[in-house]
Amino acid sequence: MNNTMDYSRYFSIARQNYKLFLVGMSAGAVAGLASGFGVPFFIQKVFKNIFEDTGNEYAFSYLILVSSLLPVIFIVRGIASYINQYFLQWAIQNILMEIRHRLFEKLQRLPISFFERRSSGDLMAKLVGDTIQIQEAILLVARDAFIQPFTFMAGLGYLIYLAASQQQVGFLLLIVVIAPLMIFPIRYVGRHLKYRSRSLQETLGELSDVMAENLRGVVEVRSFNMQDSERNRFDDKLRKYNRFAMKMAKYYHMTQPFMELLAVTMVSIAFLYSYQKGVGFSAFAAMGAALFFTVDSLKRMAKMFNGLQRASGSFERIETVLDEEESVQDVENPIILENPEGNLVVDKLKFSYMDNAEEPDLEVDYLEIPIGTTCALVGPSGAGKSTLAKLFQRFYDPQDGQILFDNTDIRSIKKSNLRESIAFVPQSPVLFNGTVKENILLARPGASDDEVKAAARKAHAEEFILSLPEGYDSIVGENAVRLSGGQRQRLALARAFLKDAPILILDEATSALDSESEEKIQQALSELPENRTLLIIAHRFATIRMAKRILLFDKGKIRCQGDFPTLLQDDLFRRLYEVQVANISASEF
Ligand code: ATP
Repeated sequence: MNNTMDYSRYFSIARQNYKLFLVGMSAGAVAGLASGFGVPFFIQKVFKNIFEDTGNEYAFSYLILVSSLLPVIFIVRGIASYINQYFLQWAIQNILMEIRHRLFEKLQRLPISFFERRSSGDLMAKLVGDTIQIQEAILLVARDAFIQPFTFMAGLGYLIYLAASQQQVGFLLLIVVIAPLMIFPIRYVGRHLKYRSRSLQETLGELSDVMAENLRGVVEVRSFNMQDSERNRFDDKLRKYNRFAMKMAKYYHMTQPFMELLAVTMVSIAFLYSYQKGVGFSAFAAMGAALFFTVDSLKRMAKMFNGLQRASGSFERIETVLDEEESVQDVENPIILENPEGNLVVDKLKFSYMDNAEEPDLEVDYLEIPIGTTCALVGPSGAGKSTLAKLFQRFYDPQDGQILFDNTDIRSIKKSNLRESIAFVPQSPVLFNGTVKENILLARPGASDDEVKAAARKAHAEEFILSLPEGYDSIVGENAVRLSGGQRQRLALARAFLKDAPILILDEATSALDSESEEKIQQALSELPENRTLLIIAHRFATIRMAKRILLFDKGKIRCQGDFPTLLQDDLFRRLYEVQVANISASEF
């Protein structure tokens, strides 16, 4: 594990809020001085006058004036602490907002492969749980970072002043020897907290994973009667989390008794010392107050230090995301295609999802799909069809070879421009929690209502949309749970139609539709302008009827290509076809 955590990123964020820190810090200094110096000073002066026989007679009004010093000190201390905490919290909220913003922003830029390697639960835990850990630590820092050092120095300064002014050099020595001893328990605890905090947050990630997976699979959990095993899985993680939390607690709560023991030892020694040296009550009381503030401030600083150690695990976990390489990146000065047309060429391409795979998941020697071609991609499951569709959109970069879009290597085209030029309907399209209209509009936010409706009609979706309680303004629910699978697919198709891009890729996009609806969509597809390149990935042969060209994929390669009669000469194609024909005739009974 990296022991030297680099906080420079956070310091630079903190620097942007330096004015707030400056106000908070100055107020903290005033509050610290008022406690550490003001209070013992007051005690010494007033106690001397009131409790000790100084031979002076004081007017009552003078005593009132002197007594009112204490409320004044506390008013100053109170106002200064308030300003200190308010401004520091302001600065800290800004810092946290910036960390969360950067984290989320980074997630938008990371390649899809990053998300495939990580669980969404752990990422959620980082975005929410770890930032809360950091928030707690920074709040602790905000509360104490500036007040306590000043209180400590003022209290210590007062003790030194007291010892020196009364020539009690022995006491001074005592302070010099005992105070640094307090560092040892603080460091011991801090070290333990640091190592455990990371494990604790990782376990929180695992816990979130189980939870997220369980919520995603509510139907499967019930259908397979998995409730008990799921509960056990969750309880296991819960117990593990609790174990780590208690390990943290074991160390975290050690600081206080250690510090208190040292503090009372100091007070006892001071007590003995004062008795022996005949120190007056006022001086002893003042010394007690100064000691209290010195030790109390040290205790708070220790807590703050340990809080930071505890948060350092969270800092490190967030760093792993912020430092992640953005592999599929735009080149410097990327090309923007002014009028993308949709000619695709694949040349000597080799691609594997895993970097050190023995066999590539997709290998294409040469393939050209000219503008306006309707091309079907067929083949057994896992043959590489979707992989090619994803590579066209640069969700991944191939290890070897290249893909050309309008004769330009797609790696030199601006990613957003490339993706604007391709409308893609994936196997399981995701709809966002918003209205039907908002979901269709994602494809082209500036489109008019008429255009949205035309796209919905083409996708054969208008009929069901109008039957919803609020038509186009109906809320679809999180991941459109209120819609049927076929309705979801139709909305995704409407989205793609609205995008009206030169290339349209449908990956099993009509698999959940009934034959009649599918036929209507095929009709709409056949009415697309002639210059649209259309790639249809499908298992159902009915879906690919309209394709002039068929690519048969097998084991990561294009086994053969041509029109339907040509392909029928291939064994594998014929087998796939015959199975389907047999299934269709069986279903007609
Ligand atoms: P289907 O018809 O079932 O959708 P497909 O022909 O579209 O199959 P692909 O999804 O392209 O197949 O998968 C090709 C190969 O790549 C398969 O062996 C699959 O296991 C592998 N693969 C697909 N996606 C990933 C991924 N994200 N990470 C690792 N391997 C993957």
